[in-house]
Amino acid sequence: MSDPAFSVVIPVYNEAACLDELVSRTLAACRGTKETFELILVDDGSRDASAEMISRAADRDPEVVGVLLNRNYGQHAAVFAGFGQSRGRMVITLDADLQNPPEEIPKLLQEMNKGYDVVGTVRRNRQDSLFRKMASALVNKAVRQATGVLMHDYGCMLRAYRRPIVDAMLQCREHSTFIPILANSFARTTTEIEVGHAERSKGESKYSLFKLISLQYDLLTSMSTFPLRLLSLLGTIIAACGVGFGVFLMIMRLAYGAAWAAEGVFTLFAALFVLIGALYLALGLLGEYIGRIYHDVRSRPRYFIQEIRGRDREVKSAENAESP
Ligand code: UDP
Ligand code: MG
Repeated sequence: MSDPAFSVVIPVYNEAACLDELVSRTLAACRGTKETFELILVDDGSRDASAEMISRAADRDPEVVGVLLNRNYGQHAAVFAGFGQSRGRMVITLDADLQNPPEEIPKLLQEMNKGYDVVGTVRRNRQDSLFRKMASALVNKAVRQATGVLMHDYGCMLRAYRRPIVDAMLQCREHSTFIPILANSFARTTTEIEVGHAERSKGESKYSLFKLISLQYDLLTSMSTFPLRLLSLLGTIIAACGVGFGVFLMIMRLAYGAAWAAEGVFTLFAALFVLIGALYLALGLLGEYIGRIYHDVRSRPRYFIQEIRGRDREVKSAENAESP
C-alpha cells in the first residue's frame, strides 16, 4: 500500500463525549479533499470509554488507525506517538475537543500545497478564558524573541507539517518538547492562516493550572538556552544596580555623616532582599533544567504503545517507535 497523501493525528484523553462527532466530522472533511489519508487517534491512557470508542472506529473505518498508550503521557507525547505511526506525506494535528474545527483541514492542505514546510494557525475570536489568553500572549512574545520565528499563536495545535519535518522531530530524543516550536526549528518556510475556534462544548479542559505551568516550562526550556541568557542579563542588571546603590550610599554618607548612613541600613536590607529573590529565581530555573536533564539521562521511552488497531502491522515496542 502506498503512503497516503496526509495523516491526521489527534491526541485523545477522556474525550468520550466528543469522540463520535469528532470522528465523523473529521472523516467527512478529509474525504471531501479527494486525497488519500489516514486518521490516527491516539488514546493517551483515557479513563473513560475513549479507548473502546477508538478501537471500534478503527475496526469500522478503513482510514482510522487507533494507537492506544498504556497510560497518560501528556498531549505532546501522545502526538509524538501518532507521528511515529503516521505515513502521510503531510501530517496535520488537531485537538480532540472540537475547539479546532476539522472543517479547516482542507484550508491547511491548500496552504501546504503552496510549498510551505509548516503551516500554523491563528485562532479567530478565540474561545478561552481571559487568563489563558493573557498567558498565551506573553508566551508567544517570548518565543518570538527567542526563536526569531514569527508566529502569533503557538498554543493552537491545528497545524500541518511536511514529512521531513515530522521525521526530524521524531529524531529528537528529549522528552520535554513543545511540538510547534520544535517544528519551526526545522522548517525552512512557515506560514500562518486564520482558523475558527469554538468553545469547548463537551467535557472539560484537560489542563489544570499545574499542568499549564508545567507546559509553559516545557515551552521555555525547549527553546534553547534563552532563559539562561535572560538570567545572566538579569544578574548583570541587579549587580549594576547594587554598585550604583553603593556609590549613592557612600556619597550620602560623606555629605550627611554617619547618622544618615545608619538609616541607610534599611535600604541595604531592601537590596539584599532583591538579591535573595533573584537567587531563588535562578535556582528555580536551574532546577527546571536539571529536572529535564534527569528525565533525559534516564532516557525512558517517551511513550509505550499497548495496542494498534486498524492496521495490519505488529505492535511496535516503544524503542522501535522512537527510532525511525
Ligand atoms: N490531551 C492529551 N493528554 C493530556 C491532556 C490533553 O492527549 O494529558 C489532549 C486532549 O484530549 C485534547 C488536546 O490534548 O485533544 C487538548 O486538550 P484540552 O482541549 O483539554 O486543552 P485546552 O484546549 O484547554 O488547551
Ligand atoms: Mg481544548
